Amino acid sequence: MVYTIEKVTTLIGARRYGESDGNVRWILTDSRSLCFPEETLFFAIRSERNDGHKYIADLYRRGVRSFVVEVLPADWQKDYPDANFLKVPFALEALQRLAERHRDEFDIPVVGITGSNGKTVVKEWLYQLLSPSMTVTRSPRSYNSQIGVPLSVWLLSEQSQVGVFEAGISQPGEMESLRDIIQPTVGVITNLGAAHQENFKSMADKCHEKLRLFHDSKAIVYPYDDEVIRQCVESYDYKGEQIAWSVKDPSVRLFVKSVDKKNTQTTVTYVFNGVESAYTLPFIDEASVANSITCAAVALHLGLTADEIAQRMPAIEPVAMRLEVKEGQHGCTLINDSYNSDVNSLDIALDFMNRRPDHEGRRRTLILSDIYQSGEDGDTLYKKVSELAVKRGVQKFIGVGPEISRCADEIMIEEKYFFDDCNSFIGSTVFRSLRDEVILLKGSRKFSFDRLTELLEQKVHETILEVNLNSVVKNLNYYRSYMKPTTKLVCMVKADAYGAGSVEVAKTLQDHRVDYLAVAVADEGVTLRKNGITCNIMIMNPEMTAFKTMFDYKLEPEVYSFRLLDALVKAAQKEGITGYPVHIKLDTGMHRLGFDPRCDMDELISRLKHQNAIIPRSVFSHFVGSDSDDFDNFSAMQFKLFDEGSKKLQSAFSHKILRHMDNSAGIEHFPERQMDMCRLGLGLYGIDSRDNSVLNTVSTLKTTILQIHHVPKEDTVGYSRKGVLTRDSVIGAIPIGYADGLNRRLGCGHCYCLVNGQKAPYVGNICMDVAMIDLTGIDCKEGDTVEIFGEHLPVTVLSDVLGTIPYEVLTSISNRVKRVYFQD
Ligand SMILES: *Cc1c(COP(=O)(O)O)cnc(C)c1O
Repeated sequence: MVYTIEKVTTLIGARRYGESDGNVRWILTDSRSLCFPEETLFFAIRSERNDGHKYIADLYRRGVRSFVVEVLPADWQKDYPDANFLKVPFALEALQRLAERHRDEFDIPVVGITGSNGKTVVKEWLYQLLSPSMTVTRSPRSYNSQIGVPLSVWLLSEQSQVGVFEAGISQPGEMESLRDIIQPTVGVITNLGAAHQENFKSMADKCHEKLRLFHDSKAIVYPYDDEVIRQCVESYDYKGEQIAWSVKDPSVRLFVKSVDKKNTQTTVTYVFNGVESAYTLPFIDEASVANSITCAAVALHLGLTADEIAQRMPAIEPVAMRLEVKEGQHGCTLINDSYNSDVNSLDIALDFMNRRPDHEGRRRTLILSDIYQSGEDGDTLYKKVSELAVKRGVQKFIGVGPEISRCADEIMIEEKYFFDDCNSFIGSTVFRSLRDEVILLKGSRKFSFDRLTELLEQKVHETILEVNLNSVVKNLNYYRSYMKPTTKLVCMVKADAYGAGSVEVAKTLQDHRVDYLAVAVADEGVTLRKNGITCNIMIMNPEMTAFKTMFDYKLEPEVYSFRLLDALVKAAQKEGITGYPVHIKLDTGMHRLGFDPRCDMDELISRLKHQNAIIPRSVFSHFVGSDSDDFDNFSAMQFKLFDEGSKKLQSAFSHKILRHMDNSAGIEHFPERQMDMCRLGLGLYGIDSRDNSVLNTVSTLKTTILQIHHVPKEDTVGYSRKGVLTRDSVIGAIPIGYADGLNRRLGCGHCYCLVNGQKAPYVGNICMDVAMIDLTGIDCKEGDTVEIFGEHLPVTVLSDVLGTIPYEVLTSISNRVKRVYFQD
């Protein structure tokens, strides 16, 4: 649907500056996601960290002409001659109002889903159940925030017959605005868990807040067996229809009579409106069963018959939330998106691909299967796909499926190929000649794209380090919450980003606008530059032999001694360079590297003043023990020394020199010492020396069981017969050894890994490439996954056994262990 600028101005009650005509089809809150500038309306939203107004000039240059602002740019008439500025008190509120007015245009059933877990699964499954009968518009992925919800509701169009939207809250007071935007006619609460509990007085309190979503809805669906939810609903003055479901109480609207689990499927028998029916679900876990019942209740309420549900439920597919980035063969990078295939999620995946910088100028290729259940005819649909692909920079298009092949003419990309199915693609020369490309794979499940990815992936042994890029971002934001909005941030990606892989991590950090990245040596910086990192980069241990490289790649060295300073100045002068930014390190107690603030400052200032080749951009020092209260006095002494020394340096120069000292633990423990900038390392990677539970796990080291032996108790396992058994045992061999970074001292029962959630101790000596583990009593088979550390087994368990710190364990994972990246 299209709105004129005039109409939008009225709808959001803005004051308009500018007179150009214009239409609005797209709304944008993140300038990096711009796609169709001509018909885009940009909302300049201010958050604690950022301010959308900063991006107006850039967006204007890229063709955007319509802006919702809180403050008019100075000289707007001169600088932005044909733009429209709609001025409002709060841009976020205006976005929400616009979505609300858009929602008003639709007199269709709209399902609003809230709850602590399962919102996205319920939304996606409802979509799968309903879409054969009606055109469903739903939130893309898990867009459920104060910004995500309006963007989702904006997707409602003339074709929409039902809307399904998620609402997520993290604090009191947020649900009301979401309710006004979604205006659900059917409310769904999935369950209640501990998430965000820190912001609420009690579970009941949080439940009440969630129930606000349903204030005006005609019906609500909720789990009657959950005590807190039931009581909240009962005490809540709710006038509409109640569709409670229960496995215990036959008096509710949807009574679940029995739940029968067999191997891989579950049969649910239920009574709804006095009629008994059943369906079978291809899952057996509790959460899936509960989610399926919630979906059945909503679907029945929306008019699906019990037969339709029984027909469709067995085909329900798991919801894959991840975008995976993997290295492929022949210089390709694979971005694998197995999220339900539809245009909106395609756009999000294309945006992701487009935003990842790629300096080597590799082609961007899209491999796409038929898209199902869009409610649009093929020609319209693939025309839309083509527009998106073109705008998002796709240079090569490969369509797989009869429908997409039929619509080949709609795809306006010069290099394009079409195949009826995956097999004919795999057998083709097009498949064999994929080279040096960034490839986005997006296929409906029916097309088995996993076979494609398997073939395209680089073959490695089965041990991988999984790196969760969302967790990196969440951890980043956790530390940012301690920092003033104006404080700058250096993110440490040295030692290959603490083992996680510096390139992909740096791309993510750059996308989240950190001010600096820091690496140890020049070569690490060069690698980042060659992979499209344009952000400022600091070199912490600059080698005297690498100055030229640093100048060539715009890498900013740390300077810690007079010898280094003189050599650097000389090298810069030789190249005719002036004003090259450097970072001055002061030694306040570590006694590792740095100038002595007590006696070196005058000499340092004098030498800096007598040349113009380099210029101090920042000055810093490092705490020796910010992670432990034991050193608080020492830290205070260090800070004082630094404060004096750095101020002295600053006072000698008229330009601003950034002062910084806090590392991860410092940011949390001494936020008052953040000064102009902080340096975040370990915390980014999910490890907090004081309280690990506040962070999100980033790296998970995984492998698989290669072989299982039944070994009698009189035998031994491994080299030198060190694995002495005390019982008849089941021994598994796993393809990871000390050459992969699995420390040999973890062997002989000193530590364990996890197999299907159970502890499996290492038996005997760990070998170079293989280790043996005790599987006695654990239900498992060859090929099962083994967690060495990660999500369920903190890396600190290993470092404690080894008498070392988690830094060492993380950075010891060797290069032959493949890194696999994913993000929701
Ligand atoms: C590694 C490093 C950091 C980061 O320390 P964490 O404890 O990992 O946060 C900060 N500053 C300097 C100088 C470093 O070398």
